[in-house]
Amino acid sequence: MTTQTAPKTKIKIAYFDFTSCEGCQLNKLNLENHILDLLEHVEIVEFREAMDDKADSYDVAFIEGSISTPTCVERIHDIRRRAKILVALGSCASIGGINAMKNLQPIEDVREIVYGEDKYLFPTLPAMPLSAIVKVDYEIHGCPMSIPEFLQVFKALAMGKAPIKPDSPVCVECKLRENECLFDRGMVCLGPITRSGCDAICPSFGQFCTGCRGLVPNPNKNAMLDILTDHGLSLQEAEKRLLLFNSYQHPDTFK
Ligand code: SF4
Ligand code: SF4
Ligand code: SF4
Repeated sequence: MTTQTAPKTKIKIAYFDFTSCEGCQLNKLNLENHILDLLEHVEIVEFREAMDDKADSYDVAFIEGSISTPTCVERIHDIRRRAKILVALGSCASIGGINAMKNLQPIEDVREIVYGEDKYLFPTLPAMPLSAIVKVDYEIHGCPMSIPEFLQVFKALAMGKAPIKPDSPVCVECKLRENECLFDRGMVCLGPITRSGCDAICPSFGQFCTGCRGLVPNPNKNAMLDILTDHGLSLQEAEKRLLLFNSYQHPDTFK
């Protein structure tokens, strides 16, 4: 007598992009070594970068990019209605990222600079992370998003568990890797107030942290400004460094 096992139900996932360089989605296509393992557990039902199909609902929606137009607002509400779990991919989606630097200038000036006399054809909004408009269940930080962190979140969701969210600063991971601090080599680095989870990849290769994963909870921003100015930056240069990825969260603090 033969026994039949019921076909395994796969988790339906979809990918979407908003205002972004699409680098996080392209980064995901670099998962060659893991893709077959992942596809055993999931069915990709929508992914503009890789397929034409569309779906009505998803177990998990992975979303790249910031909200920056009225159309983005409508789309993200629609995706939220269809998705059981919504995950923000990369700094544009999770913290507003580089896009939010536009918020530091009057929105009408930005429209004029980008679209010139056609500006009335292109309605725009200040750049926002997804969480400014809808409930976000998980965030995968970085510019581009970290592939190890993506796999960790992906596997946790596939197993029905809550992913781990790093909240210590990059300096912790940097010290665990026994790196020489770049401040001692005459550079300035945002590791002390930047969220870890990237395994301090930049300082490990001699490149200072630019803060792409956003701020740790309760960052001591004034102390960071003091350190940066003590190490040779003017206050204006130090503020610019801090605003590169953090313009949405802390525009008034760093301006
Ligand atoms: S987080 Fe960086 S790599 Fe990802 S979409 Fe935004 S700008 Fe591109
Ligand atoms: S190099 Fe940067 S991340 Fe590493 S310990 Fe120094 S300040 Fe922290
Ligand atoms: S070290 Fe800093 S800039 Fe580099 S990936 Fe990590 S958070 Fe981003």
